[in-house]
Amino acid sequence: MSVTEGVLETEEQTALRSAVAALGRRHGRDHDHEALWAEAGKLGYLGVNLPAEYGGGGAGMAELSLVLEELGAAGCPLLMMIVSPAICGTVIARFGTDAQKRAWLPGLSDGSRTMAFGITEPDAGSNSHRITTTARRAADGWILSGSKVFVSGVDIADATLIVGRTEDARTGTLKPCLFIVPRDAPGFHRTPIDMELTAREKQFELTLDEVRLPADALVGDEDAGLLQLFAGLNPERIMTAAFALGMGRYAIERAVRYAKERQVWKAPIGAHQAIAHPLAQAHIELELARLMMRKAAVLYDAGDDTGAGEAANMAKYAAAEACVKAVDQAVHTLGGNGLTREFGLAALVTASRVARIAPVSREMILNYVSHQTLGLPKSY
Ligand SMILES: Cc1cc2nc3c(=O)[nH]c(=O)nc-3n(C[C@H](O)[C@H](O)[C@H](O)COP(=O)(O)OP(=O)(O)OC[C@H]3O[C@@H](n4cnc5c(N)ncnc54)[C@H](O)[C@@H]3O)c2cc1C
Repeated sequence: MSVTEGVLETEEQTALRSAVAALGRRHGRDHDHEALWAEAGKLGYLGVNLPAEYGGGGAGMAELSLVLEELGAAGCPLLMMIVSPAICGTVIARFGTDAQKRAWLPGLSDGSRTMAFGITEPDAGSNSHRITTTARRAADGWILSGSKVFVSGVDIADATLIVGRTEDARTGTLKPCLFIVPRDAPGFHRTPIDMELTAREKQFELTLDEVRLPADALVGDEDAGLLQLFAGLNPERIMTAAFALGMGRYAIERAVRYAKERQVWKAPIGAHQAIAHPLAQAHIELELARLMMRKAAVLYDAGDDTGAGEAANMAKYAAAEACVKAVDQAVHTLGGNGLTREFGLAALVTASRVARIAPVSREMILNYVSHQTLGLPKSY
């Protein structure tokens, strides 16, 4: 038993980590995505953060993030975990009506239902204050119009949690609100974007053309939309950090294995410091990012949304940067094999960039830390 067991994580978390790692090893890089999703759901891993009374594991983001990290480290990350149980599950569990919780949480917990999350818009991008998808009140509910871009997994999700705006009756200003839009709702159109990514989850451009929704499609309270939205964003950042860390660990593990075996001079290539040191450096940086992710998850699970906000942003930043560097060095370590399909690292060159861009770019996190943490003035 490691001396850190029970110190940096509880015995239950360590046991969960090894069980998920074993599941990941069984499925591996060439996994059948649907089979892995179904098995992870059945074992309770996908909804480990959701309330036990609705079929979840009753634990928190510390547990959910370690599930995603371990699957990624085994070469089979499940991207939809970032949106379905982490963002959508959290928002519904914290702010949904009883009916919404009963309708969605058991399915999100066991993975039999999935929910995508759409906030990004073509003309808003990083500036989500600029989104224009708008909900008008109708006699029997809402009419939603607008467009979204880069939304992941809309084709495999039963519904998408769409961030829109409603008009404040008193001031006339538009305020954010969250709506559950079923996949086949009339007027809800999706077009896949031709991405250079090999992942199972596709990204979509969405058009909401006067989509009619019942009154109970609105999640929670119309006047607290911003608060509800923020509640989903910390889990999103923690999970993106986990996604990046898993991928980085996977790449380093493959590279180290190769560097121990490949020999073109007297010693294996891993004996050359020009190969060994960058791998050691990448490993250190992944471990550092992991500590920050742990901090963010612990603060979030303790109910400190503000403290978790800063840590979650920093963890996402650090993990994405460590992942990009780890993948770059891993590919290089394999020489020509780094670019073959057989060794499976070349595709990660593109995939590793995702966490640097989404859900919030590296620069927007640097802006956040400059302004919120350091108190520097804003240029925009
Ligand atoms: C694989 C993938 C999956 C995604 N999945 C989802 C999803 O499921 N749901 C969803 O809603 N969205 C999703 N996104 C969208 C993602 O969140 C956005 O791409 C991201 O927020 C950046 O927005 P943008 O692409 O419009 O870039 P832009 O906002 O146009 O930014 C372009 C560049 O300008 C920089 N920049 C912008 N403003 C500033 C500033 N003030 N200071 C300094 N630099 C700045 C950015 O850092 C970036 O480098 C996904 C994206 C990808 C790539």
